[in-house]
Amino acid sequence: MPKNLQIKPLSEWEEYNGRPFVVAGPCSAESEKQVMETALGLKKAGRTDMLRAGIWKPRTRPNSFEGVGSKGLSWLKKAKKETGLPLTIEVANATHVYEALKFGVDVLWLGARTTANPFAVQEIANALEGADVGVLIKNPVNPDLELWVGAIERIYQAGIRKIGLIHRGFSTYEKTTYRNLPQWQIPIEMKSRLPEIPMLNDPSHIGGDAALLLDISQKAMDLNFDGLMIESHINPKVALSDAKQQITPAELGILLDKLVLRSPRPQDERQLNVLEELRGKIDWLDDQFLELIEQRMQVVETIGEYKKRNNISILQNKRWEDIIYKSIEKGAKKGLSREFINRTFKAIHQESINHQMEILNGKPKEK
Ligand code: PEP
Ligand code: MN
Repeated sequence: MPKNLQIKPLSEWEEYNGRPFVVAGPCSAESEKQVMETALGLKKAGRTDMLRAGIWKPRTRPNSFEGVGSKGLSWLKKAKKETGLPLTIEVANATHVYEALKFGVDVLWLGARTTANPFAVQEIANALEGADVGVLIKNPVNPDLELWVGAIERIYQAGIRKIGLIHRGFSTYEKTTYRNLPQWQIPIEMKSRLPEIPMLNDPSHIGGDAALLLDISQKAMDLNFDGLMIESHINPKVALSDAKQQITPAELGILLDKLVLRSPRPQDERQLNVLEELRGKIDWLDDQFLELIEQRMQVVETIGEYKKRNNISILQNKRWEDIIYKSIEKGAKKGLSREFINRTFKAIHQESINHQMEILNGKPKEK
């Protein structure tokens, strides 16, 4: 990556109307009517800067709706003409790029599965050589910062200077509240490595549920993201893809009105960024801490079951003394006071005993 990136700031993109920069539209273009009604609804709600829609949809399993293909481009072109909203669509190979350029799409976006595939990104970069378009690059599906940086490099080397990033979360094997885990530390790290590149957040694919959109969007604003990409459909209930996470244009307007935007005085902005980024790291570490405690309790419960089956008493004093002793020694080397370790581990121990007692007494677990 060259030292001084010549990235065009979002404030100089023709489409920019202030923070947050809002990209909205359906997950998929489904019919001319659906595209037009959604676009007109978004125009009326008044907060959208750019219209999005998927024409070619990367679906996890075959035989689901895979997008309408190139014919959707003429519907989008018409929507642009009637609303004045610039367009963005997802491209995943060179043919998609040529089609999009032919129809005057303003900004292309690389989906999370594409960013994870250097062959595809390179093919797209080659097709983009010399084109005057913007490119938004979603994070790869897996939490790999270098892969994300690699995609930026490939697009940058093709001569594209209007580059933006979209944080859409990371897939996990475990089922969680989120469809894709936000792992905020990754976009935060990216923002500190490449501060010139605008960063949008996609709460729709992180949350996977309309009910989570506001919280995630607010968090992105608190972390000084530049904008949001939110899926909006004129009638989400009947959407052919991602129905649960889409909201109507009117609901989008309400959501955006609820967002609290900080307006730091300019001289404070840098300091505020630093603080917000550090707070993001603390939040992430706290989440990790809770997850570790949860995992510890699961092991404790397995031990509890074992003790019950084999008629062993719950409290094993010697074992407990060893744990406390070792932890105090280790903690001291990390600059943590004896008193703190003692109190913390006692609390954890007490909670562990409570869990094992419940198992012994056959009580159902509180969840
Ligand atoms: C989308 O934006 O509809 C999409 C497919 O997103 P992602 O690449 O983030 O899964
Ligand atoms: Mn989608």
